[in-house]
Amino acid sequence: MRLYTHPACLRHDPGASHAERPSRLSAVTDALRGAFPQLPWEEAPRASRGQLLRVHDDALLALVLDTPVTEPTPLDPDTLLGPDSAEAALHAAGAGIAAVDAVMGGSTRRAFCAIRPPGHHATGSVAMGFCLFNNIAVAAAHACERHGLARVAVVDFDVHHGNGTQAIFESDPRVMYLSSHQMPLYPDTGRVHERGIGNVLNAPLQPGSGSEAFRSVWRERLLPALAGFRPQLVLVSAGFDGHRLDPLAQLELEADDFAWLTAELGAVADRHADGRIVSMLEGGYDLDALRECSVAHVRELIGHGG
Ligand SMILES: [Zn+2]
Repeated sequence: MRLYTHPACLRHDPGASHAERPSRLSAVTDALRGAFPQLPWEEAPRASRGQLLRVHDDALLALVLDTPVTEPTPLDPDTLLGPDSAEAALHAAGAGIAAVDAVMGGSTRRAFCAIRPPGHHATGSVAMGFCLFNNIAVAAAHACERHGLARVAVVDFDVHHGNGTQAIFESDPRVMYLSSHQMPLYPDTGRVHERGIGNVLNAPLQPGSGSEAFRSVWRERLLPALAGFRPQLVLVSAGFDGHRLDPLAQLELEADDFAWLTAELGAVADRHADGRIVSMLEGGYDLDALRECSVAHVRELIGHGG
């Protein structure tokens, strides 16, 4: 088990009172350091432009990396670019690259990237929903291109649908995208009929669904499909905004639900992927919930082969 972060990720500042604030990340890293003092931390490198260009276009790279900004500047009503945002975005995406290299190289089987800004709403050409680059998509593309994998699964349990990840891979047979999410909710995608080329599986849940409905869609639909895909690598978009304390959604989950799902993912990874899981922080906007859920998630990653 290995943990990745970078101090630059703390310096991305979308402005006072924005939900996606630096204290989210320090809550996660402080909680993990306290709970697992023995675990090694790695400094996340920057992603290269070439690595980002596997999933993003030139115009988005130019916007995020080359726009001179002196104060938080809105790219959309939710998504702001500040003076330190480009550096944070490069290290957030680079964490996934380094983690994929580590698990594929065999130096560890499990990795968790404590990073921000999150990524799963960013499409190939548009930064949106607090996301600048799609970190998990950059990691998946790296696994396919650099390591030659033919079957990479992206599992997304953030309470919001990962529209960007789905859009990037919906016609790529090497990547399967599976998501549970609250609906109706931003970004209003992720309906059951959105299937890509058969490589996309969405399980929308109504507000107030709670633990039983959440576990049921994973147990009955998503986990069997994941196992059937026989992933060589499992990537996780780990958003903890489904927790009952989260101010942005109403899915009413507990930390134990994230622990349960993590253990189930570990079992699939052990069976098909030589145990390999790379998990990356996405959303989660209540600090107490972030602390409890990230510790529960990492404990299960360790517990199953980390
Ligand atoms: Zn979210």
